[in-house]
Amino acid sequence: MNKTKVKLDTAQINASFMATYPGFAAADSYRTKREVTMRVIDTAKKFTLTAKPGEIVVNSRWIKKQENSKAFQAHLQTALHKNWNSVDTIKRGDYQLVFINKNSAFNPVIQKELIETYFKVFPVLVSTFNDKTTHDVLFVTDTAYKGVAEASGNRILFSTTYMNAHPTDIDIVTHEGMHLVQGYGYGSGPVWLTEGIADFIRYKYGVDNIGSKWYLPEFTAKHNERKYENSYRITARFFEWIDQKVKPGVIIQIDKELRNHTYNQDTWVKLSGKTIDELWDMYAKNPELDLKYSGKERS
Ligand SMILES: [Zn+2]
Repeated sequence: MNKTKVKLDTAQINASFMATYPGFAAADSYRTKREVTMRVIDTAKKFTLTAKPGEIVVNSRWIKKQENSKAFQAHLQTALHKNWNSVDTIKRGDYQLVFINKNSAFNPVIQKELIETYFKVFPVLVSTFNDKTTHDVLFVTDTAYKGVAEASGNRILFSTTYMNAHPTDIDIVTHEGMHLVQGYGYGSGPVWLTEGIADFIRYKYGVDNIGSKWYLPEFTAKHNERKYENSYRITARFFEWIDQKVKPGVIIQIDKELRNHTYNQDTWVKLSGKTIDELWDMYAKNPELDLKYSGKERS
């Protein structure tokens, strides 16, 4: 009898999986609820453990050995890592960025610029708007992701297809980084408001809006159809107008109240003396604005 052999302990395998995979799930799929199948097979001799998105295969002969069973969790992590092109951990001051790139065709120059933008902008946003925001952020690229970029938890996901085609659009980091700083949680204010603030912050704190030809669109009569609910840049321009023409700091206070879950329709009246519809009507009558965009030297 071989004493080193152990009975296949599926409870232990499950526990190891739950301890390992969720931490990597954010990097492994843009929705973290991807289903994973784990198969234990005993047909192959040399094979031990493989992992690809959604599937893990383990050799039962291998895992039945005491030492392998004990090291299963570490092996699982290693196997998951193999799906990625690179993992870089960058620390500057008390901020950290882990960059997981899963596409070998992702332009490294763009990757570097995203990293630089993070260290330039994110600490400023955190210290200005919400010093409880994490200092430990994860950037992930995923070829399976069909959007442009999105933020959740401490993670920002980028589409490499989009970024390779729009290499100067590095202030995506500013917009998505602001989403991490916002951290309003569920049920605090409408989506148009969250997105309008993120683009308002991109306008104010972005490092190269000129380089990416990112501008706040001039007011047109068509904007009156959905007014401030147009969201993103149309709303951001309206917010900049409030900042310049009505009262500076209103939008920043709105951001605070959203975070405190004290925001409601009356907040606009409390802060500016006007309802948001009244503010919009004033804006629509006289939308002239002096706008200044950030830009950086490019070689
Ligand atoms: Zn957004």
